[in-house]
Amino acid sequence: VDLAIHRRMLMLRECTVHFAPYGFRATWHHLVVSAAIPQHLEDDPDALVRAVGELEEARDIWTSHLNEFAARRAEEKARGQRTLHKTDQWHHWGNHRLAYCPDPGLHPRDRLATVVGRLISAYSSGQDYSKSCPLCGHLRWQQPCPQCGIELRGHLALPPQDIRAKIPLRWREIWQRVSASQSLIDREGFPSNKIAALRLAQRLVAEVPSTQPGRRAFVDIVPSTTVSDREALRASWTRRDANRAFKLSHWEYDEKLLSTSDYDVDAVLIRTATADNEAALPGVLANWSLQPVQFQYPWDTADPR
Ligand SMILES: [Zn+2]
Repeated sequence: VDLAIHRRMLMLRECTVHFAPYGFRATWHHLVVSAAIPQHLEDDPDALVRAVGELEEARDIWTSHLNEFAARRAEEKARGQRTLHKTDQWHHWGNHRLAYCPDPGLHPRDRLATVVGRLISAYSSGQDYSKSCPLCGHLRWQQPCPQCGIELRGHLALPPQDIRAKIPLRWREIWQRVSASQSLIDREGFPSNKIAALRLAQRLVAEVPSTQPGRRAFVDIVPSTTVSDREALRASWTRRDANRAFKLSHWEYDEKLLSTSDYDVDAVLIRTATADNEAALPGVLANWSLQPVQFQYPWDTADPR
């Protein structure tokens, strides 16, 4: 075991304790996923460098905001204005986290700096966020946000019981960076190579029965991608991310056109569905009476897309 690299990981842990926009556990999970820190650190020593970079970039945005705020306050006080503007009051909401994600595995997927910037502008806008999530815009918004997982700064209620109950197991898996083969999604029946494909944002396809003779039908799972994925692609690598959402589409085609470039003539989109995260995917498949094992790489199927 390379001791130096483990010491570097503990230093990253220390930095994350001191600056954790989602609280320590969720922020740590965010870094592990977005920097793809492997279970064996020696496999990819640069992963820690990527994680530190992402954390520092976000912290710089927060620090420079605080410096600007302090300078502006000093000026206001010198002019005799003692009370805070309404749009500045959030600085004194007590809780030092920018937001909090009680479920360490459910947090925003964008780059940390992007999220920090968006939260600062949302809080500073003075808008009423009782109806929609300031970060992801989710409309059936409650705290924590069902879609991106955040609670707003200053919100101090206990996390819901179902989240509290799964935190210890979740955290153990996160801290040990358990491999895909032992992850939650795998227990629901996805082979580990297919999980790896989904995390690398690759599409999977299952052929399903068609509604009439002469037609063939396919369901595909398309993992969501973010700006970080596009940045990675531009730098010629593919980002692994265990925090993707998924879109399912069920298409039916004319069998005779399937292997031609006119496959889309008379193609019918039968239905679509989304899964917010890996944990939700098996349930969405079950709603369509599908099993994870039915899904193949697209090139192993007759899917034309
Ligand atoms: Zn949200």
